[in-house]
Amino acid sequence: MQYRRLGNTGLKVSEISLGSWLTYGGYVEEQNAVSSIDLAYESGINFFDTANVYIRGEAEKVVGKALSKYPRSSYVLATKVFGNMGDGPNDQGLSRKHIMEQCDASLKRLGMDYIDIYYCHRYHAETPLHETLRALDDLVRQGKVLYVGVSEWTAEQITEAVHLADKKLLDRIVVNQPNYSMLQRYIEKEIIPVSEKHGIGQVVFSPLAQGVLTGKYKNGANVPEGSRAAQANTNMSHILTEENLDKVEQLRSVAYAEDLTLAQLAIAWILRQPNVASALVGASRPEQLQETIKASGVKLSSDALEKINEILTN
Ligand code: NDP
Repeated sequence: MQYRRLGNTGLKVSEISLGSWLTYGGYVEEQNAVSSIDLAYESGINFFDTANVYIRGEAEKVVGKALSKYPRSSYVLATKVFGNMGDGPNDQGLSRKHIMEQCDASLKRLGMDYIDIYYCHRYHAETPLHETLRALDDLVRQGKVLYVGVSEWTAEQITEAVHLADKKLLDRIVVNQPNYSMLQRYIEKEIIPVSEKHGIGQVVFSPLAQGVLTGKYKNGANVPEGSRAAQANTNMSHILTEENLDKVEQLRSVAYAEDLTLAQLAIAWILRQPNVASALVGASRPEQLQETIKASGVKLSSDALEKINEILTN
């Protein structure tokens, strides 16, 4: 496993990190979740991701419990705040009240004393940015949070937050968590250039497009039993389009020529971007991780990169 600096910070994270959305505490039984986290850790993954809102705190509990047997200094744990955690008017968003309460609630569920990276899961138009940044800065000063990040904020929102933090001498955003994969490339236009300018690193989620880029879903064929698309509470129809599935089929020959599986090709392609600190994958079983982690350190040939670009832009 190779490690990269997270933006301009001194923090090193594994090029491949493991998340827990939908899976841990959710449709993946606990034994499989724990074995996947163990395999990740033993393979050199030092970066784990969760959120308060994933199965209303259940994912945090599973991840925290699985990691409790390892020294706290040996891994980087990220969680998030924003989503709905109850029915009350203050049970969501980025108000000072909700951030402070949710940080404590996350620490309790995780069974940890601090969170390495605390993300604002989305932008909250109803809270003044200064209120949010002040609350996060206080958490950093209290030692409950080490680094602050955002997820799915626009380039304008990121820029405004950086300028405001600098002006008010508050802790700065150092990491952004956007969706990025061969099938979702919007961050290349504005987010990456703006992030590079401000020393912000990307930790990109769903780099396998929720499994579509592994080639397991085929046009006209039944959805594989037990897969994410087969779960009752998931909707992948926006990704499982004929156009996307055709692209994945075309990518097979590129993967073959590089002696990689499709999943490894998809991750190696993500990691060609120097601004990406880590590709944040999900895994329902340890064997899936065994396959994807082999993409760390792989450098794709210029021929492969050209062919991939042709396939993706046609
Ligand atoms: P991926 O694109 O990596 O999809 C993961 C899923 O793909 C797995 O659960 C599995 O699904 C399938 N898969 C993975 N590897 C293989 C393999 N080798 N062979 C076959 N199938 C495979 O990422 P996710 O969509 O899970 O997102 C990763 C993480 O990013 C989340 O856990 C979460 O922490 C974070 N995230 C953050 C968001 C945000 O708003 N900030 C939004 C979404 C995710 P299965 O076997 O069940 O079909």
